Amino acid sequence: MSKDLVIVESPAKARTVGQFLGNKFDVKASMGHVRDLPRRSIGVEIDENGFKPKYTVSSDKKKVVSELKKAAADAGTVYLATDPDREGEAISWHLIEAAKIDLDKTKRVVFHEITKSAVEEAFANTRNIDTDLVNAQQARRVLDRLVGYRLSPVLWSKIKRGTSAGRVQSVALRMVVDRYREISSFVPVEYWQIDGLFKSEDLKSEFLAGLHTINGKRDKFALASRGDTEDLLRDLENAKYVISSYETSLSRRRPSPPFITSTLQQEASRRLRFSASRTMTIAQQLYEGNVRNAEGESVGLITYMRTDSTNVSDVALKEVSTYIKKRYGEEYALPKPRVFSRTVRGAQEAHEAIRPTSFTRWPDSLKDQLDRDQFRLYELIWNRMVSSQMADALFDRTVIDVDSKGTVTGNDYVFRATGSVPKFDGFRIVYTEGRDDGPAEDQDDSILPLFQKGASLVGEKISPDQKFTEPPPKFTEASLIRNLENEGIGRPSTYATIIGTIQDRDYVRRERGRFEPTKLGIAVTDFLMQHFTDIMDVGFTADMEKRLDDIAEGLVRWNPMLKDFYTPFDEAVETAKSEAERVPRDKIDEESDEVCEVCERPMVIRGGRNGRFIACTGFPECKNTKPLTIGIACPECKMGELAERKSKRGIFFGCTNYPDCNFAVNTKPLDESCPMCAGILLPSGRENARCSSKECGFRGAIEELEPVK
Ligand SMILES: [Zn+2]
Ligand SMILES: [Zn+2]
Ligand SMILES: [Zn+2]
Repeated sequence: MSKDLVIVESPAKARTVGQFLGNKFDVKASMGHVRDLPRRSIGVEIDENGFKPKYTVSSDKKKVVSELKKAAADAGTVYLATDPDREGEAISWHLIEAAKIDLDKTKRVVFHEITKSAVEEAFANTRNIDTDLVNAQQARRVLDRLVGYRLSPVLWSKIKRGTSAGRVQSVALRMVVDRYREISSFVPVEYWQIDGLFKSEDLKSEFLAGLHTINGKRDKFALASRGDTEDLLRDLENAKYVISSYETSLSRRRPSPPFITSTLQQEASRRLRFSASRTMTIAQQLYEGNVRNAEGESVGLITYMRTDSTNVSDVALKEVSTYIKKRYGEEYALPKPRVFSRTVRGAQEAHEAIRPTSFTRWPDSLKDQLDRDQFRLYELIWNRMVSSQMADALFDRTVIDVDSKGTVTGNDYVFRATGSVPKFDGFRIVYTEGRDDGPAEDQDDSILPLFQKGASLVGEKISPDQKFTEPPPKFTEASLIRNLENEGIGRPSTYATIIGTIQDRDYVRRERGRFEPTKLGIAVTDFLMQHFTDIMDVGFTADMEKRLDDIAEGLVRWNPMLKDFYTPFDEAVETAKSEAERVPRDKIDEESDEVCEVCERPMVIRGGRNGRFIACTGFPECKNTKPLTIGIACPECKMGELAERKSKRGIFFGCTNYPDCNFAVNTKPLDESCPMCAGILLPSGRENARCSSKECGFRGAIEELEPVK
């Protein structure tokens, strides 16, 4: 009897799935997508009947397709076990089409975790290919192709050769540019904060309280100048202080829900400094079971990593509850599971949160089988899931109000102090979510002394503090993903690509972990905003994403949806081609201090295939160029200087004496030099520095370094 064939995407997944199925099945990998739109042409036929994608099997996929075709012809049933989302559905459909597999003998198998029970259950509940999911994926692919292919020539002729734009990433770029402008045009506003140090009459206890209201009104800008503040101090000079309210109440903090794709990317960025794409690569390894246990068996350690659902299966909830009781005690467990509500788009795709597949595989037991990054990500996923089903953390929160009357004006002043004392750590024993900006919430944990209402106080010291309002912070990778998600742009499968693309194209750069647009990025954004308002509109893009979801749910047909989009877009392209003015060079080139030693014209920074370099503005008359050095001597050959370069793996800083000297580092060195060996220091996280020399091994806080003279 002929064997049944199972097709998955990758060899690692094939191996793991194969173990569970035994030798009645032949498991093969498609190595990702087998068909796609052609590389060298638009690949979409557009006529009155609509949009027809012309998929081709690329030359590197021909072999695998013919192998699968043969295997499928010989097989009994062909099980298509690609990933459980639109992209996975589309891969299966393309497989059927490309390898000409007899539809009647195919079955679609969907599982969200690669474990024995999940795989067996999926094989007992097969279905047909879901055409709606496939069409949603086709619509996205065609849409992105049309936008990219039609916009590129416009950008090439109006801005610069080699520039390109994409449907979703252009809006993401716009967010970075908007934020940058908001920061550049920000005008700080002065205000004053008043703190009072109050003591009990016996002077034995004291606490700090901030001025909260004046005549019952809370206004940050009530004291707008030093003059206002001096008036206030005079008013309070002989004032009396009385505790008008002393209240303690129980407050609780809830744990965060288990991870979905966007929150995993954000938290891995904040805590582990992983880029979104790195997080996804490692998560995929954990999901596919790219890890073997002592017996040589592999198993998927986490559920599928592309998801926007916080659901957790009943089995997993039961298991985690048992684990919590055993590991932390009854009081840390919940009487019944906590449910996190979240509207999930595309109900038939709704799967599960990202969580460990078993709560018997605690992180430390896997330390020997996982590499450092796999371990750290697994531990993060583990802690987040476990904490999400643990008891609330409890605090005693105390608020003290101190009343006073101005002796000059008769104004009513209220000072307020808040403090909280942890009462029960609950989920916080395992995990608390990191933050992008601002102080950690733990800073509120001050203990206030006991007082009776009505007690008189001694106003020991009233101290004014000059402040200025601050602009919003630049985006980090984490905060940009959060923003995209909040605006309804991008989906679990696309965040990492969006973030990667705007950096690869040199539209934004990262300085100390924060995004800043380049001049080219700003020029592209301004050009697109002027000529392609829809594409650059956040609401419009969010609506397109929603319509793709509607296609996946079978509510909207994909071809008419494309037509609705394409007709006005096509007009905008034609108008821009004929009417848009060319963006002048000085709007794209970054200024430099260098003057050309050949022709004495100023030089500018330009981008090229191998990274940025310094070029003469006299080009093409004068072709003088120089590497973009960063003012740091090469620590190895001591002759060259470090200059910015670019490879396939991103930007790096290498010696100008290359190829004679091979010294290179992947992150931009700090201006300070190593206090131990005078070598090069690299940032390590946001606050620390480490020496680039392994022999030296210096590590320390950036703040404590000596500035270079
Ligand atoms: Zn020159
Ligand atoms: Zn060197
Ligand atoms: Zn050193």
